[in-house]
Amino acid sequence: MFAYHINTRYIKVDQNHPEADAIAGAGLILRRGGLVAFPTETVYGLGADATNARAVARIFEAKGRPPDNPIIVHVASRSQLSALVVGVPTAAKILMDTFWPGPLTIILPAAKGVPEVVTAGLATVAVRMPDHPVALELIKVAGVPVAAPSANLSGKPSPTHAAHVLQDLDGRIEAVLDGGPAGVGVESTVIDLTAEAPVILRPGGITPEELGACLGEVIIDSDVLAGSYDGDSPRSPGMKYTHYAPRAPLLLVTGNGPAVALKIRQLACAEKCVGRRVGILTYSDSSDFSAAGEVVVAGRRERPETVAAGLYSALRRFNELGVDVILAEGLEEKGVGLAVMNRLKKAAGGRIIQV
Ligand code: AMP
Ligand code: MG
Repeated sequence: MFAYHINTRYIKVDQNHPEADAIAGAGLILRRGGLVAFPTETVYGLGADATNARAVARIFEAKGRPPDNPIIVHVASRSQLSALVVGVPTAAKILMDTFWPGPLTIILPAAKGVPEVVTAGLATVAVRMPDHPVALELIKVAGVPVAAPSANLSGKPSPTHAAHVLQDLDGRIEAVLDGGPAGVGVESTVIDLTAEAPVILRPGGITPEELGACLGEVIIDSDVLAGSYDGDSPRSPGMKYTHYAPRAPLLLVTGNGPAVALKIRQLACAEKCVGRRVGILTYSDSSDFSAAGEVVVAGRRERPETVAAGLYSALRRFNELGVDVILAEGLEEKGVGLAVMNRLKKAAGGRIIQV
């Protein structure tokens, strides 16, 4: 049982008129050390005043987040960066000019005053300017940078609707601003600019191809491609934890189309034989698996950005269907497909079949 119960305020906001009183009220909650979930263009975030260590500590408590996993700080203007980072190098300026506001998080050396609970004691801090009118207005009216991880229980699929936030955090946070579904659907790309060459620590809405076009050489961390963590000291602490997992175990099947479809049908058949209910995660331009199990479609395979937008809703849908096992079809790791596959590999927790 969670230690206390708060009446979580549900606040509907109109993204076309984000200057509404509702957001002013939410800004006040943040200034007083409370927690507010809010929409961004990636997923819903759970915000706290980044300058208030006690408020940020409450994020960890509400989510059940491991204390060594640092939190991204969200800003509404570049002037807020001066209190957060030591300086903004040229490469960071170029990225900000090109991709901010947008789904790109940049890791830079942290300024002295940043609370340790935000950085998990690291010498660096992750910063981002979200591309969502409600998020930007909330940060503006709060008047402080806002520390915000995804607004889900740790380990669960991230929330892309306010209803997902309430499923996980109702009673644990002061308020949720409902601004409709998050557009991108997967979290921001995280790029580390504190090493010799820029390194992508987490794939997301901005693709390696886009970053490469901007910066020249960009390295993709090996843990990103593996979708798992193998080593003592990951460069991004979040890498070592299970993530995005629905209740039922998920098996990811990758390889060429027809072989994958055949394998999924065989596996579904074997599971059904032993009395298990099978869920199948697939795409609208893929095979028809309706005879093999409970099908959930997460966008079009040929347009990975549509899969990103529907992925977390699809994973949560399997919880509602109450299946015992999920068979998920892999995607090509191109463009946003790299981020989708990274999340699916993590949700699979190592259960990956290559055919
Ligand atoms: P989320 O919990 O979805 O907001 O994800 C934040 C991600 O950024 C996690 O994987 C964190 O480990 C990572 N992160 C945040 N701050 C840092 C940092 N200073 N250095 C490396 N990774 C970071
Ligand atoms: Mg998260």
